[in-house]
Amino acid sequence: MAVTSLRPEVTDLLSRLIQVDTTNPPGNETAAAELLREYLEANGLQCELYSRVPERANLVARIPGRGEGPSLLFLGHTDVVLADPSEWSVPPFSGEIRDGEIWGRGALDMKGHVAANAVAIASLVREGFEPAGDLIFAATADEEVGDDFGLSWLCSEHPNAIRCDYAVNEGGGDRLTVGDAVFWVVATAEKLTAPFNIRVHGRSGHASMPGIADNALVKAAKLIERIAEYRPEPQIQQEVEVFLQAVLGEVPSPETAVARTRERDRIVAEQIEPLLTPTFAPTMISASRKRNVIPALCEIVVDCRLLPGQTPAQIEPVVRSVLGSDIEYDLEFLKAEGGTRSALDTPLWAAVESFVADLEPGAAPVPVICAGFTDSHWLREAFGTVVYGFFPYRTMTPELAAALIHSADERVPASDLELGVDWLRHVARTVCV
Ligand SMILES: [Zn+2]
Repeated sequence: MAVTSLRPEVTDLLSRLIQVDTTNPPGNETAAAELLREYLEANGLQCELYSRVPERANLVARIPGRGEGPSLLFLGHTDVVLADPSEWSVPPFSGEIRDGEIWGRGALDMKGHVAANAVAIASLVREGFEPAGDLIFAATADEEVGDDFGLSWLCSEHPNAIRCDYAVNEGGGDRLTVGDAVFWVVATAEKLTAPFNIRVHGRSGHASMPGIADNALVKAAKLIERIAEYRPEPQIQQEVEVFLQAVLGEVPSPETAVARTRERDRIVAEQIEPLLTPTFAPTMISASRKRNVIPALCEIVVDCRLLPGQTPAQIEPVVRSVLGSDIEYDLEFLKAEGGTRSALDTPLWAAVESFVADLEPGAAPVPVICAGFTDSHWLREAFGTVVYGFFPYRTMTPELAAALIHSADERVPASDLELGVDWLRHVARTVCV
């Protein structure tokens, strides 16, 4: 089978990609784009670089379709987060290959997936694959910070380069075992990250005489407690409904969903819980800058995540009623991101189903809502693209992957890279026809 011979190729490409330091900030993704361009052009693909500034290029390559079928995009970002070498067992940009694993920053998030995207499209073009619609490869900049150099910028400035009917991105691919049953997780929706500020006003004064002042920090503490104690009413959205039906064999009431899931599996219950409600986590606070000055202003930042479809405007009155009316404050929602979903009854879902059925008879794909967000929402918003996060990991467990992403000793098994290439080749052959 052709796929077996692609393992060394994807291993080598990932190792070299890791050696290009694309820590964001500052990114410097052009170096990664150039490496990928060299590889793809050597395989006969046309490549185009698009960049807002020269050092932060996005690469787009394609196998042009015959024009009569849907287009499919393999999406991936080339930037990575900071790595502190003192925490690592190997230099984080070494790309070292050890015991069948490729080590380095970005191995999981997500240069491994990017390398698999490249090898999948390169191997297809070598075999003379002629899709009905375009098969597109994009390696984009600036996902980790999101300062508008990457996919958001491409969607607004070069929409024709990136427009597509279907796309596969990061965000899913965990293999979940619940009892004897196996499920493969597909990220088909994302919560809306909708942070807000609360500013509490008081009156400053010398800290030696608290009675003459009005301490904004003390008043803010009450508001923080009210947010922490608030339990929003749970609801079961379509993705969670399909998930629960698959995993439990029935859909319990929203109020009992977490407890019922916990009876089957504690970890799965923990993952499901934030998908039933909006969440509110106070994470930052600032008040006086001097120990002996009572603050006249205290600012709290709350990390708030809404369910897909919910808006800050809908949730603001809820927040105000939780905070109460006895303490004066200003409430301001900051920039919201994410919060989109793709339909489940699509050819892309059918491609995941047929892949999983071949891979592991009896296993089933299940949709989930990502608690965070990825670049997928840009495509959904700009073009109505059906985007799923799916890159299957069979050797690496979800627990280990979660512990390594954005952390020390990030690494990926070569066998999982090969499986990823296998998946991407399958989806191209299934959807682009
Ligand atoms: Zn990522």
